Amino acid sequence: MKAAAFAYRRVNSLHSGLVQVASAGDTVKIMAGSQSLGPMLNLRLARPGTLIDISGMEELRVAALEGDTLRLGSGLTHAEIEDGEFEAIANHPWRRIAAQIAYRGIRNRGTLGGSLAHADPAADWVLAAWAFGAQVEIASRQATRRVAIQDFMTGAYATVLKSDEILVAVLLPRFDAGVRWGYYKFCRKPGEFALASCAAVFGPAPSSARVVIGAQDGTPRNLEALAGQVARGGIAAATPAAIDEALGEAMPGKDAIDRKFFASVVRRCLEQAHGLREVA
Ligand SMILES: Cc1cc2nc3c(=O)[nH]c(=O)nc-3n(C[C@H](O)[C@H](O)[C@H](O)COP(=O)(O)OP(=O)(O)OC[C@H]3O[C@@H](n4cnc5c(N)ncnc54)[C@H](O)[C@@H]3O)c2cc1C
Repeated sequence: MKAAAFAYRRVNSLHSGLVQVASAGDTVKIMAGSQSLGPMLNLRLARPGTLIDISGMEELRVAALEGDTLRLGSGLTHAEIEDGEFEAIANHPWRRIAAQIAYRGIRNRGTLGGSLAHADPAADWVLAAWAFGAQVEIASRQATRRVAIQDFMTGAYATVLKSDEILVAVLLPRFDAGVRWGYYKFCRKPGEFALASCAAVFGPAPSSARVVIGAQDGTPRNLEALAGQVARGGIAAATPAAIDEALGEAMPGKDAIDRKFFASVVRRCLEQAHGLREVA
């Protein structure tokens, strides 16, 4: 099948993009790397009246430290993050996470902002943003707002973005070399979406510990109690019973096999965060 007809406009500046999305009405759709939207158009799951192509917006392709905040432009491709193309991300853990997204052809075009706006529950950036305490910056013609990632994604393929808004940047706390982290995802074949995934971040303060699982029915789930136990007691606190209890609360209704599967993924992620296993 091919896409239904739509009007196409390519914009090169954020200002003109915001003007265009504001004037195009409710059936407008933004296109970034088109790696998710393209298939949806061809399957006619998306039928926009107007498509605003923002892939040429260079001002969204930035990575810079602003005080204690790392600002990542929404237009950065997965490959640009993987390659550490900007000094501010040369040593950042997200390079290793980017390298696990799909395969290089997809990473060359798919963008950070497109992935978050698409809000696939199994997407790597959704889980990583959750675990690393991200905020997103969203602009419209009238205003710019910042939203914590937990408030941004409201469910599977659902966010608080309005039709006249553009996701401009992702803001992360500055990464400190003392922070320990892990990222483990299970896919049947390399390049596929995760069937189960976990991201963990410990430090600098024990209170900032996060263990989060992805590939759920909706948003990622925070294993808050487990994160606290492991932050205080180290990997020894990640007993099978503790992990099982955490998953029982986070995944109610899932059967024992699913829980066991996720338990391995959580365990391996925590081992990575404690230097006992390599991040892929
Ligand atoms: C075969 C295949 C395998 C894949 N495997 C993985 C994987 O393992 N892990 C993974 O995480 N992802 C995977 N993906 C998805 C890929 O990462 C996409 O690039 C990403 O989900 C969407 O990014 P995009 O820039 O292509 O966005 P687009 O496809 O252009 O847009 C996606 C949605 O976001 C909206 N949007 C885009 N940018 C903005 C913006 N700045 N502001 C507001 N709305 C915006 C669009 O309107 C659209 O609704 C895979 C895709 C394919 C085709």
